[in-house]
Amino acid sequence: MDLRQFFSWILTIQLLTLAVCAVKSFRSVKPIGKQVGWLLLSLFPPILGNMIIIGTSIRSVAVVGYYMYFLGMDLVMAALVRFTDMYCQGIGNGQQEPTSMYVVLGTDIVQMLCNLIFGHAFGIESIEVQGLPYYRIIPYVGQTVHRIVDYTVFFCVVLIFIIGALRTTRIYRERYTVILFAMVIVALWQTFYIFSRMPIDRSMIGYGFLGILVFYLALYYRPLRLLDRMLSKIASNMPEALFVFDPTGRCIWANDPGQRLADISESELDKVPEKLAALFGCPCNRRGDWSENRVIGEDKDALYYTLEGHVVRDQKRYLAGSCLSIRDNTEEQRSLQRELYSSTHDSLTGLYTKQYLFECIHKKLKEEPDTEYAVIFIDVKDFKIVNDIFGSNYGDLAICQIAERIRKWMSEKCVYGRLAGDTFGVMMPYADFMHDSLEESLNNFIVSDGMVENRLQIHLGVYVVDDPELEVSVMFDRAHLAISVIKDNYRGHIAFYDNRLREQILWEQKLMEELRGAIAERQIMPYLQPIADSSGRVVGAEALVRWIHPEFGFMPPAKFVPLYEGNGMIVELDRYMWRCACEILSEWMGEKKDLFISVNISPKDFYYIDVVAEIKRLVREYHIEPSRLRLEITETVMMSDSEERMKLLEDFQHAGFIVEMDDFGSGYSSLNLLKDMPVDVLKIDMRFLSASDSYGRSETIIKNIIQLSDELKIASLTEGVETQQQFAQLSSMGCKLFQGYYFARPMPVEEFERFVLKNGIK
Ligand code: C2E
Ligand code: CA
Ligand code: CA
Repeated sequence: MDLRQFFSWILTIQLLTLAVCAVKSFRSVKPIGKQVGWLLLSLFPPILGNMIIIGTSIRSVAVVGYYMYFLGMDLVMAALVRFTDMYCQGIGNGQQEPTSMYVVLGTDIVQMLCNLIFGHAFGIESIEVQGLPYYRIIPYVGQTVHRIVDYTVFFCVVLIFIIGALRTTRIYRERYTVILFAMVIVALWQTFYIFSRMPIDRSMIGYGFLGILVFYLALYYRPLRLLDRMLSKIASNMPEALFVFDPTGRCIWANDPGQRLADISESELDKVPEKLAALFGCPCNRRGDWSENRVIGEDKDALYYTLEGHVVRDQKRYLAGSCLSIRDNTEEQRSLQRELYSSTHDSLTGLYTKQYLFECIHKKLKEEPDTEYAVIFIDVKDFKIVNDIFGSNYGDLAICQIAERIRKWMSEKCVYGRLAGDTFGVMMPYADFMHDSLEESLNNFIVSDGMVENRLQIHLGVYVVDDPELEVSVMFDRAHLAISVIKDNYRGHIAFYDNRLREQILWEQKLMEELRGAIAERQIMPYLQPIADSSGRVVGAEALVRWIHPEFGFMPPAKFVPLYEGNGMIVELDRYMWRCACEILSEWMGEKKDLFISVNISPKDFYYIDVVAEIKRLVREYHIEPSRLRLEITETVMMSDSEERMKLLEDFQHAGFIVEMDDFGSGYSSLNLLKDMPVDVLKIDMRFLSASDSYGRSETIIKNIIQLSDELKIASLTEGVETQQQFAQLSSMGCKLFQGYYFARPMPVEEFERFVLKNGIK
């Protein structure tokens, strides 16, 4: 193969390679791809031109080859400028389009083309090389200009690359230096060709390589070594523990956190698989992509890790190894648990919050539909008073002690929590509900801060779950309702919700709603029960309320008075009764009936209204002598604020009313209290005595009370007199007034009036 053929082959191969690279460049997604493509294409004319020059022995063809070569070089320079403009972006201070370069190169193209007319740039001469004809150029001034232009442009490009290499960080310097060196070599090579006047421009091969080099560096090159170093630095500094295993599972690298976690030094990487397996209880150098959460230790000391393994494959998809990252989630998990805890647990007692308790109960009822459960509402009676008297710190302490006690009572089959301030909720299997032992411990429930001891009344309302579909809040409502039954019962602490209670509550609600209407419609009215003197003649009556209910019929006061006393509505009822009594009295005054009526004043009335003012106003309104309206109060009125209440009673007496102490002997009657009490009549209820005492004993008691009241100048009235014998005996003991079924039962007003007529008035 001669030299020409040899070069032709090399250039052909280069052209093919460049063509492939150009196609790839144009297809590249990188923005610089186009510039690279144009640069590679621009190399075609000069290389082809050179091939023609080398291959031809025809003069005119050689001329064409030279034009292709020279003009092509201008195109190469233009493309190189465009490429450099983009490749070296950000190097200059402010980027400007290299327009002047294009103008110069364009002018040069025109100038070289003018050679066709003026012949000022070059001519060619025939020489013989290795026995073959060859056309060599004879350069004139135009050719020199062309060279100066191309070299200047080339020099500028080289300069930009030099600046680029100097200004960038070391990581990217390679990008510039490699192209820079290639360009310098090509330039020197071509210079050598120009001055040696060798017939074949071998530097074209250099241009070809430069093109391929640019293609590679601009589109594919990444500074891998540096990248490696950077990545390993990043990996070393990561908080996660990282391990790299080779395909056999041997550890070949671990970052610092990894070494710390596995408790090894850098030279002990071989121990990693064994250490990790011991730590996490599973092989950690497995193949494949996997991820797992592991907990080491228990409870508060538990450590939480997330393990993630990935296989690494080479370009041919052969297994190259695997890497494992282990993240310590402990802090995250703990704060999550803290958050969960505080959202589900009461901050003071550590018991479940109401909402969470309801959730748990709901779940448990779903999970165990066959167990019979009891929902229990726990309430501290008058806890507000404890708080008020001993302060909220003591109150908090008491709440905590109650919570502690609840915790102790409960088995793990129970769920419990704090519902609100002083109320707690429990659900337990009904079979575990030990009524008697619970009642016993509630009997003596004492909280103490070491100095102040307090006996608390703890009440339990129990709803035995008969309908698990019911909302949990409704179950607790029912259990809570049950407590209302215990209210003033000092012995029992536990009450059950049952249908009877439910009905009673509904009934009470109905009565509460109906009171006003019933008064307006006169369904409620006074009955009068005669009061007689020792001769048996009627001297007055007690007004006792009756409700003729359109639905329930005749209703004695026991059915509704306690209810209205509980909610304060008794005031409305009593006011109405007082007014009725006044109405009757004012009528009797017209008929000259010399009778009195005693009305009942509930202790609760004093609580809600100014009873004295109210009653005074009434007698003024009806022009009644105050002594005709007798006032029955019970001793419970005196239980609180006794001094103030005494004043009220004195007020009544001064205004001319007769004050009667009702139900004396029923409750806490203290004879001591009696001597200071401004009352005119003592009503002794026989029934309270005869029920609990032997006849002889009650006789003595009554005799003594009558005697005592006599000494205190208080008249005595015995009520509940049912037999003639009782009447006779009481008369002989000195009792002045009598009331009871023996004389008559309470009756409607008209009937009473007839009764009086028949029996005669004093
Ligand atoms: P109280 O004031 O002690 O009234 C006397 C009660 O004893 C009446 O019951 C009366 O019917 C009953 N009674 C009278 N004699 C006999 C007897 O010989 N044997 C027996 N076993 N019972 C007798 P009532 O009318 O059912 O009233 C019950 C309670 O309801 C009253 O007791 C009173 O505390 C209250 N009450 C009645 N009316 C009113 C009212 O208008 N206002 C207020 N606040 N309470 C009322
Ligand atoms: Ca009474
Ligand atoms: Ca009474």
